[in-house]
Amino acid sequence: MLQKPNTFLSVDLNALVHNYLFFKSKTKDSTKLVAVIKAFAYGHEAIEIAKYLESLEVDYFGVAYIQEGIKLRKAGIKTPIIVFHSQLSDIEECFKYQLEPSIYSFRVLNYFLELTNIHKLTNFPIHIMFNTGMNRLGFSQKDISQIVSLVSKNNNLKIASILSHLVASEDSNQKHFTQNQINLFSSIIDEFESQLPYSFDKHIANSTGVLNYSEAHFNMVRVGIGLYGYANDKKWTKRLRNVSKLHSIISQIHLIKKGESVGYNRVFKAEKKTISATISIGYADGIPRSWGNGVGYVTIKGEKAYILGNVTMDMLMVDVTNIACKEGDEVLFFETQEIVEDLALRTNTISYEVLTAISQRIPRIIVPKI
Ligand SMILES: *Cc1c(COP(=O)(O)O)cnc(C)c1O
Repeated sequence: MLQKPNTFLSVDLNALVHNYLFFKSKTKDSTKLVAVIKAFAYGHEAIEIAKYLESLEVDYFGVAYIQEGIKLRKAGIKTPIIVFHSQLSDIEECFKYQLEPSIYSFRVLNYFLELTNIHKLTNFPIHIMFNTGMNRLGFSQKDISQIVSLVSKNNNLKIASILSHLVASEDSNQKHFTQNQINLFSSIIDEFESQLPYSFDKHIANSTGVLNYSEAHFNMVRVGIGLYGYANDKKWTKRLRNVSKLHSIISQIHLIKKGESVGYNRVFKAEKKTISATISIGYADGIPRSWGNGVGYVTIKGEKAYILGNVTMDMLMVDVTNIACKEGDEVLFFETQEIVEDLALRTNTISYEVLTAISQRIPRIIVPKI
Protein backbone atom coordinates (compact mmCIF):
# COMPACT_ATOMS: atom_id res chain seq x y z
CA MET A 1 0.00 0.00 0.00
CA LEU A 2 1.48 3.31 -1.09
CA GLN A 3 1.28 6.07 1.51
CA LYS A 4 2.16 9.73 1.66
CA PRO A 5 5.98 10.03 1.65
CA ASN A 6 7.56 10.10 5.11
CA THR A 7 9.74 13.04 4.25
CA PHE A 8 8.26 15.93 2.29
CA LEU A 9 8.08 19.69 2.08
CA SER A 10 4.57 21.07 2.47
CA VAL A 11 3.91 24.26 0.54
CA ASP A 12 0.92 26.17 1.82
CA LEU A 13 -0.88 28.27 -0.78
CA ASN A 14 -2.94 29.92 1.97
CA ALA A 15 0.22 31.39 3.46
CA LEU A 16 1.47 32.35 0.00
CA VAL A 17 -1.65 34.35 -0.81
CA HIS A 18 -1.49 36.05 2.58
CA ASN A 19 2.08 37.18 1.89
CA TYR A 20 1.29 38.22 -1.67
CA LEU A 21 -1.63 40.35 -0.51
CA PHE A 22 0.51 41.82 2.27
CA PHE A 23 3.02 43.09 -0.31
CA LYS A 24 0.21 44.30 -2.57
CA SER A 25 -1.14 46.26 0.40
CA LYS A 26 2.24 47.98 0.82
CA THR A 27 2.23 49.35 -2.72
CA LYS A 28 -0.14 51.54 -4.71
CA ASP A 29 -2.84 49.77 -6.73
CA SER A 30 -1.10 50.85 -9.92
CA THR A 31 2.28 49.43 -8.87
CA LYS A 32 3.11 46.24 -10.73
CA LEU A 33 4.56 43.25 -8.93
CA VAL A 34 7.17 40.80 -10.16
CA ALA A 35 6.90 37.55 -8.20
CA VAL A 36 10.45 36.21 -8.01
CA ILE A 37 10.34 32.43 -8.33
CA LYS A 38 13.94 31.65 -9.27
CA ALA A 39 15.71 28.66 -7.75
CA PHE A 40 12.54 26.52 -7.60
CA ALA A 41 10.69 29.41 -5.95
CA TYR A 42 13.37 29.68 -3.26
CA GLY A 43 13.33 25.93 -2.76
CA HIS A 44 9.54 25.64 -2.62
CA GLU A 45 7.92 24.54 -5.91
CA ALA A 46 8.05 27.01 -8.76
CA ILE A 47 5.41 25.55 -11.07
CA GLU A 48 2.58 25.15 -8.60
CA ILE A 49 3.38 28.53 -7.07
CA ALA A 50 3.47 30.14 -10.51
CA LYS A 51 0.13 28.59 -11.46
CA TYR A 52 -1.42 29.88 -8.31
CA LEU A 53 0.03 33.39 -8.58
CA GLU A 54 -1.03 33.47 -12.22
CA SER A 55 -4.59 32.83 -11.09
CA LEU A 56 -4.22 35.95 -8.90
CA GLU A 57 -3.12 37.87 -12.02
CA VAL A 58 0.38 38.70 -10.88
CA ASP A 59 2.03 41.05 -13.41
CA TYR A 60 5.33 39.28 -13.97
CA PHE A 61 7.45 36.37 -12.89
CA GLY A 62 11.17 36.79 -12.30
CA VAL A 63 13.70 34.00 -12.70
CA ALA A 64 17.48 34.02 -12.76
CA TYR A 65 18.13 31.78 -15.75
CA ILE A 66 16.52 31.07 -19.08
CA GLN A 67 16.14 27.36 -18.33
CA GLU A 68 14.00 28.26 -15.32
CA GLY A 69 11.76 30.30 -17.57
CA ILE A 70 11.50 27.47 -20.10
CA LYS A 71 10.26 25.10 -17.38
CA LEU A 72 7.51 27.54 -16.50
CA ARG A 73 6.44 27.94 -20.13
CA LYS A 74 6.43 24.17 -20.64
CA ALA A 75 4.11 23.94 -17.64
CA GLY A 76 1.71 26.32 -19.37
CA ILE A 77 2.51 29.58 -17.58
CA LYS A 78 1.46 32.54 -19.77
CA THR A 79 2.38 35.51 -17.55
CA PRO A 80 5.33 37.62 -18.76
CA ILE A 81 8.67 36.36 -17.41
CA ILE A 82 11.81 38.43 -16.84
CA VAL A 83 15.11 36.56 -16.84
CA PHE A 84 17.52 38.45 -14.59
CA HIS A 85 20.72 36.75 -15.65
CA SER A 86 20.31 35.91 -19.30
CA GLN A 87 23.38 34.39 -20.92
CA LEU A 88 24.51 34.08 -24.51
CA SER A 89 24.52 30.29 -24.42
CA ASP A 90 20.73 30.03 -24.50
CA ILE A 91 19.42 33.57 -24.94
CA GLU A 92 18.01 32.62 -28.36
CA GLU A 93 15.43 30.48 -26.50
CA CYS A 94 13.83 33.75 -25.39
CA PHE A 95 12.03 33.96 -28.74
CA LYS A 96 10.59 30.47 -28.73
CA TYR A 97 9.43 30.71 -25.12
CA GLN A 98 8.61 34.41 -25.00
CA LEU A 99 11.04 35.13 -22.17
CA GLU A 100 12.12 38.72 -21.59
CA PRO A 101 15.83 38.99 -20.89
CA SER A 102 17.34 41.49 -18.54
CA ILE A 103 20.31 42.84 -20.48
CA TYR A 104 23.25 44.11 -18.50
CA SER A 105 26.16 44.64 -20.89
CA PHE A 106 26.99 45.61 -24.48
CA ARG A 107 28.28 42.09 -25.07
CA VAL A 108 24.78 40.73 -24.41
CA LEU A 109 22.92 43.63 -26.03
CA ASN A 110 24.83 43.43 -29.31
CA TYR A 111 24.45 39.68 -29.51
CA PHE A 112 20.74 39.83 -28.77
CA LEU A 113 20.21 42.61 -31.32
CA GLU A 114 21.92 40.50 -33.94
CA LEU A 115 19.60 37.58 -33.11
CA THR A 116 16.48 39.72 -33.38
CA ASN A 117 17.74 40.83 -36.80
CA ILE A 118 18.25 37.25 -37.95
CA HIS A 119 14.81 36.25 -36.67
CA LYS A 120 13.27 39.47 -38.07
CA LEU A 121 11.56 40.31 -34.80
CA THR A 122 10.04 43.64 -33.97
CA ASN A 123 9.57 45.27 -30.57
CA PHE A 124 10.86 42.26 -28.67
CA PRO A 125 10.68 43.26 -25.00
CA ILE A 126 13.93 43.57 -23.06
CA HIS A 127 14.82 44.96 -19.67
CA ILE A 128 17.91 47.06 -19.14
CA MET A 129 19.75 46.42 -15.88
CA PHE A 130 21.87 49.13 -14.26
CA ASN A 131 24.57 48.77 -11.69
CA THR A 132 23.90 51.32 -8.96
CA GLY A 133 26.26 49.91 -6.36
CA MET A 134 25.92 46.14 -6.28
CA ASN A 135 28.79 45.65 -8.75
CA ARG A 136 27.34 42.35 -9.89
CA LEU A 137 25.55 42.93 -13.20
CA GLY A 138 24.53 46.06 -15.02
CA PHE A 139 25.32 48.98 -17.28
CA SER A 140 26.49 52.26 -15.86
CA GLN A 141 24.89 55.63 -16.32
CA LYS A 142 27.44 56.74 -18.92
CA ASP A 143 26.24 53.92 -21.23
CA ILE A 144 22.74 55.35 -21.67
CA SER A 145 23.18 57.23 -24.96
CA GLN A 146 24.87 54.27 -26.57
CA ILE A 147 22.11 51.92 -25.38
CA VAL A 148 19.43 54.23 -26.73
CA SER A 149 21.18 54.64 -30.06
CA LEU A 150 21.64 50.88 -30.50
CA VAL A 151 18.05 50.10 -29.60
CA SER A 152 16.66 52.96 -31.69
CA LYS A 153 18.55 52.07 -34.87
CA ASN A 154 15.69 49.76 -35.82
CA ASN A 155 12.59 48.50 -34.10
CA ASN A 156 13.83 45.01 -33.27
CA LEU A 157 13.84 45.67 -29.55
CA LYS A 158 11.64 47.53 -27.16
CA ILE A 159 12.81 48.54 -23.70
CA ALA A 160 10.02 47.24 -21.50
CA SER A 161 11.71 48.31 -18.30
CA ILE A 162 14.75 49.79 -16.63
CA LEU A 163 15.88 48.06 -13.47
CA SER A 164 18.54 48.03 -10.82
CA HIS A 165 19.01 46.14 -7.58
CA LEU A 166 19.33 47.34 -3.99
CA VAL A 167 22.34 46.10 -2.09
CA ALA A 168 21.24 46.43 1.52
CA SER A 169 17.59 47.38 1.74
CA GLU A 170 17.24 45.36 4.96
CA ASP A 171 20.09 47.15 6.73
CA SER A 172 19.22 50.39 8.49
CA ASN A 173 22.95 51.18 8.84
CA GLN A 174 23.10 51.43 5.06
CA LYS A 175 20.24 53.92 4.64
CA HIS A 176 22.52 56.54 3.16
CA PHE A 177 23.96 54.10 0.61
CA THR A 178 20.49 52.85 -0.31
CA GLN A 179 19.22 56.39 -0.73
CA ASN A 180 22.11 57.10 -3.08
CA GLN A 181 21.22 54.03 -5.11
CA ILE A 182 17.63 55.20 -5.38
CA ASN A 183 18.76 58.71 -6.41
CA LEU A 184 21.15 57.39 -9.03
CA PHE A 185 18.40 55.13 -10.37
CA SER A 186 16.01 58.10 -10.58
CA SER A 187 18.50 60.09 -12.60
CA ILE A 188 19.03 57.12 -14.96
CA ILE A 189 15.24 56.95 -15.42
CA ASP A 190 15.09 60.68 -16.17
CA GLU A 191 17.68 60.32 -18.91
CA PHE A 192 15.80 57.46 -20.53
CA GLU A 193 12.52 59.35 -20.28
CA SER A 194 14.05 62.24 -22.17
CA GLN A 195 15.58 59.99 -24.83
CA LEU A 196 12.95 57.31 -25.46
CA PRO A 197 9.72 58.09 -27.32
CA TYR A 198 7.70 55.54 -25.33
CA SER A 199 7.09 54.76 -21.67
CA PHE A 200 8.61 51.85 -19.77
CA ASP A 201 8.47 50.26 -16.32
CA LYS A 202 10.98 51.11 -13.57
CA HIS A 203 11.96 48.88 -10.70
CA ILE A 204 14.69 48.61 -8.08
CA ALA A 205 12.99 47.33 -4.89
CA ASN A 206 13.24 43.76 -3.63
CA SER A 207 11.09 42.50 -0.71
CA THR A 208 12.74 44.58 1.98
CA GLY A 209 13.07 47.48 -0.44
CA VAL A 210 9.26 47.45 -0.68
CA LEU A 211 8.86 47.44 3.10
CA ASN A 212 11.58 49.91 4.05
CA TYR A 213 11.70 52.36 1.13
CA SER A 214 8.38 53.46 -0.29
CA GLU A 215 10.31 55.97 -2.44
CA ALA A 216 11.95 52.99 -4.16
CA HIS A 217 8.71 51.47 -5.49
CA PHE A 218 8.65 53.44 -8.78
CA ASN A 219 5.92 51.67 -10.76
CA MET A 220 7.03 48.08 -10.22
CA VAL A 221 8.57 46.00 -7.42
CA ARG A 222 10.20 42.57 -7.29
CA VAL A 223 9.22 40.38 -4.37
CA GLY A 224 11.06 37.14 -3.65
CA ILE A 225 11.75 36.06 -0.07
CA GLY A 226 8.72 37.98 1.22
CA LEU A 227 6.32 35.74 -0.71
CA TYR A 228 7.67 32.79 1.24
CA GLY A 229 7.24 34.50 4.60
CA TYR A 230 10.56 36.18 5.37
CA ALA A 231 11.55 39.82 5.51
CA ASN A 232 14.99 39.88 7.14
CA ASP A 233 13.47 41.67 10.12
CA LYS A 234 11.32 40.28 12.95
CA LYS A 235 8.94 43.22 12.78
CA TRP A 236 7.99 42.45 9.18
CA THR A 237 8.42 38.69 9.28
CA LYS A 238 5.79 38.56 12.05
CA ARG A 239 3.27 39.98 9.60
CA LEU A 240 3.95 37.22 7.09
CA ARG A 241 3.11 33.53 7.14
CA ASN A 242 5.44 30.59 6.75
CA VAL A 243 4.79 28.91 3.40
CA SER A 244 6.85 25.74 3.78
CA LYS A 245 7.49 23.16 6.44
CA LEU A 246 9.74 20.18 6.13
CA HIS A 247 8.18 17.02 7.51
CA SER A 248 9.76 13.70 8.33
CA ILE A 249 9.30 10.86 10.79
CA ILE A 250 11.31 9.01 13.38
CA SER A 251 12.58 5.95 11.53
CA GLN A 252 14.09 4.27 14.57
CA ILE A 253 14.85 4.89 18.23
CA HIS A 254 18.02 3.71 19.97
CA LEU A 255 18.94 3.52 23.62
CA ILE A 256 22.51 4.72 23.95
CA LYS A 257 24.42 3.61 27.01
CA LYS A 258 26.99 5.80 28.71
CA GLY A 259 30.24 5.57 26.73
CA GLU A 260 28.57 4.55 23.46
CA SER A 261 28.64 6.83 20.45
CA VAL A 262 26.23 7.92 17.72
CA GLY A 263 27.03 8.26 14.04
CA TYR A 264 30.15 8.65 11.92
CA ASN A 265 33.52 9.15 13.55
CA ARG A 266 32.03 8.75 17.01
CA VAL A 267 31.72 12.50 17.38
CA PHE A 268 28.88 12.20 19.86
CA LYS A 269 29.79 10.12 22.92
CA ALA A 270 27.11 9.61 25.54
CA GLU A 271 28.08 10.83 28.97
CA LYS A 272 24.85 9.42 30.31
CA LYS A 273 22.01 7.26 29.13
CA THR A 274 20.65 8.91 25.98
CA ILE A 275 17.79 8.16 23.63
CA SER A 276 18.44 8.91 19.99
CA ALA A 277 15.93 9.11 17.15
CA THR A 278 16.96 8.57 13.54
CA ILE A 279 15.31 10.93 11.05
CA SER A 280 15.23 10.20 7.33
CA ILE A 281 16.82 13.36 6.06
CA GLY A 282 20.47 14.24 5.58
CA TYR A 283 22.90 16.62 3.96
CA ALA A 284 21.95 15.39 0.49
CA ASP A 285 18.49 16.74 1.27
CA GLY A 286 19.81 20.14 2.22
CA ILE A 287 20.36 19.85 5.95
CA PRO A 288 23.90 21.22 6.26
CA ARG A 289 26.55 19.19 8.06
CA SER A 290 27.31 22.33 10.01
CA TRP A 291 24.07 21.72 11.94
CA GLY A 292 25.54 18.58 13.45
CA ASN A 293 26.76 18.18 17.01
CA GLY A 294 24.06 20.13 18.76
CA VAL A 295 24.01 23.18 16.51
CA GLY A 296 20.76 22.43 14.70
CA TYR A 297 17.51 20.94 15.91
CA VAL A 298 14.16 19.61 14.82
CA THR A 299 10.76 19.83 16.48
CA ILE A 300 9.11 16.68 17.83
CA LYS A 301 5.84 16.95 19.76
CA GLY A 302 6.45 20.68 19.99
CA GLU A 303 9.89 20.27 21.58
CA LYS A 304 13.35 20.92 20.28
CA ALA A 305 15.47 17.83 19.65
CA TYR A 306 19.10 18.68 18.94
CA ILE A 307 21.19 16.85 16.37
CA LEU A 308 23.54 14.22 17.81
CA GLY A 309 26.90 13.79 16.11
CA ASN A 310 27.46 14.34 12.41
CA VAL A 311 24.65 14.77 9.89
CA THR A 312 24.97 11.91 7.39
CA MET A 313 24.05 11.97 3.71
CA ASP A 314 20.57 10.52 4.07
CA MET A 315 19.82 10.58 7.77
CA LEU A 316 20.53 12.34 11.01
CA MET A 317 20.09 11.45 14.65
CA VAL A 318 18.58 13.69 17.31
CA ASP A 319 18.44 13.61 21.10
CA VAL A 320 14.98 12.65 22.33
CA THR A 321 16.01 11.66 25.86
CA ASN A 322 13.49 14.08 27.34
CA ILE A 323 10.77 13.84 24.72
CA ALA A 324 7.96 11.30 24.91
CA CYS A 325 7.96 9.99 21.37
CA LYS A 326 8.01 6.76 19.43
CA GLU A 327 9.06 5.38 16.07
CA GLY A 328 6.86 6.71 13.25
CA ASP A 329 6.14 10.00 15.05
CA GLU A 330 6.19 13.20 13.03
CA VAL A 331 9.28 15.39 12.97
CA LEU A 332 9.24 18.99 11.74
CA PHE A 333 12.05 21.09 10.38
CA PHE A 334 11.48 24.78 9.73
CA GLU A 335 8.18 24.80 11.59
CA THR A 336 8.24 28.58 11.96
CA GLN A 337 10.11 31.47 10.38
CA GLU A 338 11.71 32.11 13.77
CA ILE A 339 13.22 28.64 13.74
CA VAL A 340 14.58 29.04 10.21
CA GLU A 341 16.09 32.40 11.09
CA ASP A 342 17.55 31.00 14.31
CA LEU A 343 19.09 28.04 12.50
CA ALA A 344 20.45 30.34 9.81
CA LEU A 345 21.99 32.61 12.41
CA ARG A 346 23.59 29.70 14.25
CA THR A 347 25.49 28.75 11.11
CA ASN A 348 26.25 32.23 9.93
CA THR A 349 23.86 32.28 7.01
CA ILE A 350 20.44 33.65 6.01
CA SER A 351 16.96 32.25 5.49
CA TYR A 352 17.47 32.44 1.70
CA GLU A 353 20.27 29.88 1.83
CA VAL A 354 18.46 27.55 4.23
CA LEU A 355 15.34 27.49 2.04
CA THR A 356 17.02 27.18 -1.35
CA ALA A 357 19.23 24.35 -0.07
CA ILE A 358 16.28 21.96 0.32
CA SER A 359 17.13 19.49 -2.36
CA GLN A 360 14.98 18.28 -5.19
CA ARG A 361 15.06 14.77 -3.70
CA ILE A 362 12.43 15.90 -1.21
CA PRO A 363 8.91 15.62 -2.62
CA ARG A 364 6.84 18.81 -2.46
CA ILE A 365 3.23 18.53 -1.34
CA ILE A 366 0.96 21.46 -2.02
CA VAL A 367 -1.51 22.49 0.68
CA PRO A 368 -4.36 23.82 -1.47
CA LYS A 369 -6.10 27.13 -0.98
CA ILE A 370 -9.12 26.80 1.28
C1 LIG B 1 16.50 37.50 -6.25
C2 LIG B 1 16.19 38.82 -6.78
C3 LIG B 1 15.13 39.58 -6.25
C4 LIG B 1 14.31 39.16 -5.05
O1 LIG B 1 14.92 39.61 -3.85
P1 LIG B 1 14.24 39.30 -2.43
O2 LIG B 1 15.18 39.91 -1.45
O3 LIG B 1 14.17 37.83 -2.31
O4 LIG B 1 12.90 39.93 -2.45
C5 LIG B 1 14.81 40.76 -6.88
N1 LIG B 1 15.52 41.19 -7.95
C6 LIG B 1 16.56 40.51 -8.46
C7 LIG B 1 17.30 41.06 -9.62
C8 LIG B 1 16.95 39.31 -7.89
O5 LIG B 1 17.98 38.64 -8.39
